[in-house]
Amino acid sequence: MGGQPLYLEPRLESRLRSLVHSPELLHTLTDALGSPLNVLVPDQLADNLARFRSVYGTHHLSGQVFLAHKANRSSALLRRLAATDAGVDVASLGELQHALGAGLTPDRITATGPKNPEFLWLAARTSVTVSLDTRDELERLATLVRGHALPRTRVLLRLSGFEASGVRVLTRRSRFGTAVRETAPLLEAVERHADALDLVGVAYHLDTTSLSEKALALEGCLRVLEECRSRGLRPRAVDIGGGFGVNYLADGGQWERYTSALTEAVMGIRPPLAYGGHGYGLRNEAGTLRGALGLYPAHRPVAAAGYLDELLSQPAASLGGRPLAALLLEHLYDLHVEPGRALLDQCGLTLTKVLEVRDDEAGGPLHIRLAAKADDVALEDHGVLLDPVVVPRHPMKADGTDFPPRTTTGSGTGTEPVAAYLFGNLCLEADLITRRTVFLPHRPAPGDLLAFANTAGYCMDFHTTRAQHQPAARKVAAWQEGGRWRWCLDDQYWPTTPVGGAQ
Ligand SMILES: *Cc1c(COP(=O)(O)O)cnc(C)c1O
Repeated sequence: MGGQPLYLEPRLESRLRSLVHSPELLHTLTDALGSPLNVLVPDQLADNLARFRSVYGTHHLSGQVFLAHKANRSSALLRRLAATDAGVDVASLGELQHALGAGLTPDRITATGPKNPEFLWLAARTSVTVSLDTRDELERLATLVRGHALPRTRVLLRLSGFEASGVRVLTRRSRFGTAVRETAPLLEAVERHADALDLVGVAYHLDTTSLSEKALALEGCLRVLEECRSRGLRPRAVDIGGGFGVNYLADGGQWERYTSALTEAVMGIRPPLAYGGHGYGLRNEAGTLRGALGLYPAHRPVAAAGYLDELLSQPAASLGGRPLAALLLEHLYDLHVEPGRALLDQCGLTLTKVLEVRDDEAGGPLHIRLAAKADDVALEDHGVLLDPVVVPRHPMKADGTDFPPRTTTGSGTGTEPVAAYLFGNLCLEADLITRRTVFLPHRPAPGDLLAFANTAGYCMDFHTTRAQHQPAARKVAAWQEGGRWRWCLDDQYWPTTPVGGAQ
């Protein structure tokens, strides 16, 4: 293998680390339930929630943390969530039904996203808070509440298109929400429908990593809340959506080295680093580097709860330059957040079985074929580059401590690093789990598992299909009890299972 391996090792907290070091368990699971297989660790969700709560504590703020359900369909995660004091953000009729059935009471549910009449009716019928996208949706909800004699519905007004006067910061355009400059007619409609709708506050969700854009949006929301109060309305909350991010990688140095090497590869200074010379958005135009790296910033020292902390500490330029948290506190506004990816950080992994390991005739990277398709491990879809962990089939020495070298033919003796392409199981040229050349610490063998860590947020079931009658991954929930792992099928999990069985 030419050159130094360019690893992108996953960040593993204790639960996932313990799991990937439990080869016997993981092989038993995939032998029984097939490959690919998703393993969830619901208890991690409670830990992540506690980290968000502690940021609330630091800033003396009250309000609710809502998990954005769309990031994962799992029942186990939702039921574990129900056993905490957090809430859930649902974006479809099915998600709302799922949340109610998992034990989340309506006061802990917010309905967002595009809504069909059934979704809107069930939300209003059960007294869930509805985040309204447009004035048209507001009118439809008011008509529905009156027409069916439903209880007065709590609503949030979702806003977008925040602008800073004088400063060259502009939040990105969103398909969702009403532009802030359209708030006056929106508030008039709220007043007109006061018998049917109870204005709780305003909301935004921006799909960006930019702190300044999010701070600008929060500041914009605070100004709209003032406007509401000056009209005699009594809003009490601001919901700032999700997008707090995840730190996927263990080592920032590896990320720096990888992205520099990718640039060199695109410029032809070193051999390609991805299948077919793919450049992840970068290209070489007659010797000049063009384009932009279309990748998730996988090493993020400030992410999840830490990102919320930073956001709350940002000064509000148009409101006297005081920190956003201080302004929220002063007005006693509740702060609601809706993290998806960040609350599911470290909550699961995806197991795939190695079917074939073949040497490349031209001496290029190994061809590793997996029992999974690209859509089953959708890290690449989200631009997240992350090495899988090899979980050997026959790992244990007699003393149970080490992975013995295996006898193999071709490149890689079994103990040396190898470069490889990871191919999926579809009859499709483009079915690569990742287009990147992946470096592994040793050559895997057929029957080994590759474990992709940290896939619970969007990478388990959001994109998966049953193309070619290939199976969609099953899900299991796993938890630690008395020093060992226990598991059950995702839909068999209830918080009574581990709690009741633990002591
Ligand atoms: C998707 C979504 C979220 C969650 O976003 P993450 O990036 O996963 O935190 C929160 N709120 C709304 C309205 C969303 O659409």
